[in-house]
Amino acid sequence: MRRIVFLCRVIAPALFVMFSGCQPEPVLPGLDYKISRSSWDSLPALQVRIAFQPAENGKTRLLFADNAWGQDSLWNTVKDLRMHAGQGTSVINRDSGWVEISHATGTGPLEVGYKIIQDQPLSGDPSLTYRPIVQPEYFHVFAHNLLMVPEHYQAGGKAGEGQGQASGEGFGNRAAVRLSWEGWEAPGVVHNSFGSQQPEQDLGAIDLDRFMSAVFVGGDFRVLTADVKGNTVHLAIRGDWIPFSPEEVMDLLRQTLAAQRDFWQDHSQPYFTVTMRPFSLERGSSYQGTGLTNSFATSVSNNASTSLDQLVYLFNHELMHNWIGHAIENESEEAQYWFSEGFTEYYTAKNIAAYGIAGKDWGYYIEAVNEKIRQLAASPVRTAPNSDITYENFWSSRDYEKLPYYRGFLFAFYLDQQIRAVSERRKSLDNLMRDLLKDSREKGIKLSGGHFVKRANAYLVEDLQPFFHKYIENGELLPLEDYFRDLELDFKTGADLFHLGFTFSPERDSVISVDPESAAFASGVRKGDRVLSRSIYMGATDKEVELVVRRNGREYPVSYLPRRKEPIPQLLDTPENREALSK
Ligand SMILES: [Zn+2]
Repeated sequence: MRRIVFLCRVIAPALFVMFSGCQPEPVLPGLDYKISRSSWDSLPALQVRIAFQPAENGKTRLLFADNAWGQDSLWNTVKDLRMHAGQGTSVINRDSGWVEISHATGTGPLEVGYKIIQDQPLSGDPSLTYRPIVQPEYFHVFAHNLLMVPEHYQAGGKAGEGQGQASGEGFGNRAAVRLSWEGWEAPGVVHNSFGSQQPEQDLGAIDLDRFMSAVFVGGDFRVLTADVKGNTVHLAIRGDWIPFSPEEVMDLLRQTLAAQRDFWQDHSQPYFTVTMRPFSLERGSSYQGTGLTNSFATSVSNNASTSLDQLVYLFNHELMHNWIGHAIENESEEAQYWFSEGFTEYYTAKNIAAYGIAGKDWGYYIEAVNEKIRQLAASPVRTAPNSDITYENFWSSRDYEKLPYYRGFLFAFYLDQQIRAVSERRKSLDNLMRDLLKDSREKGIKLSGGHFVKRANAYLVEDLQPFFHKYIENGELLPLEDYFRDLELDFKTGADLFHLGFTFSPERDSVISVDPESAAFASGVRKGDRVLSRSIYMGATDKEVELVVRRNGREYPVSYLPRRKEPIPQLLDTPENREALSK
């Protein structure tokens, strides 16, 4: 059941009509939430009241995950859970992520109330974004850490378990959801994935997975609004920003969405919002984003080391996932990261250049190609086969995590230029991308290597399969130097790669080996040194590594540029290259 409902989300409206025409709509159960400003033990809190249809057997479970999105003990944020007087008794099972309510059968809706508080102080730890943030001036929460959902409303039982069987009640994982907000009257703000400044929100019948993939903010946020070809785009942002103004961020968002929707010829999303939460960070910059229903939630360090350029990349990469990765879904998650991450990375650079986002031009694209060549060359797993990019490796090793970004990008670059050359610049990889979107939306075809090759072959003279096998599946390095020569692109050979030059102990407090050819060795780092302090910009070849090490009871300060030369090709940023790559 959930499967069909899910497909209705992504396939053409015509098929949806067919589906709903041949199966009568069940009357969906209601799910009413009232969220109001409150307090608990002198802390600010959100009071949530939920009214729902109880399960027929007299026992209803409300789901609330204790572990989610890298956070544990989320039940610590739930206080004062109570039933409406006389309606029943409740037992919380934190480990299983639910509260079970025993109640009389055959009654009307039940009502349960609870409070959500912030259980850890705000800090520069960006992962705190994924716990409830409830301050006197504002709140920032995700659906799964604010709202409980009755288990029997869901198609497969527990939230987030993936595909399940149809529920006994036959609701198909949908409910008629209403939200009402109290306590953030003007000039306060109520803003979320489903609307802006609406104290009463009637979401109608909504898929619960979509509903539970949402962000809710309120309080002293500012809401900026733009129109992209008749569709509304919001930015909800709070705080005084050091590196840029909210208007600059909004303008960047508008440019990015307009460019991407034009690129895909897809202006079908009537409402979209981005939330942006500042956090303080003493050194360096940090930013992260999460793609959600109709929305994108970001947290960004607010200091002088953060720049608008980082947001240009973040917005363009993350919002591109609306199509690459979501609308065009991988058949098997990790096996096609070369596509969902690598091609997203490629179109981040290409679209920023092609549409002149934030004033960038084709020089940005050329530098992006060069950077990917350097990053891949510096990767210790650069020739690992695609089958090594497994769930375990991807989440435990930054080298494996980044490999499909680099490899997929360069493969996309290669293929783009190949299609342009074969078609005498009448076609490009852009056409193939739109073919893949159509296949997904109209036929529900997911992205696999086989399907990709088949669709790509329509634009090529030679079968892509052996090439795909060699460079994606087997992971060999693309012969880019020969290719640049074929394409008559100007390039130089030789570039600086990031090279720390020594290996840390697992605790990162001592040196377990040093490359004798490295700048680290030349500047005095030795095996066995205790590292007392360190300042390292990972990946940056132009920022000095600064260490204080202790050896034989003495302390030594060390600094050096962490790089080594490699004979790899780099495109030159010349008018001829710009012309050749863009026209
Ligand atoms: Zn991504």
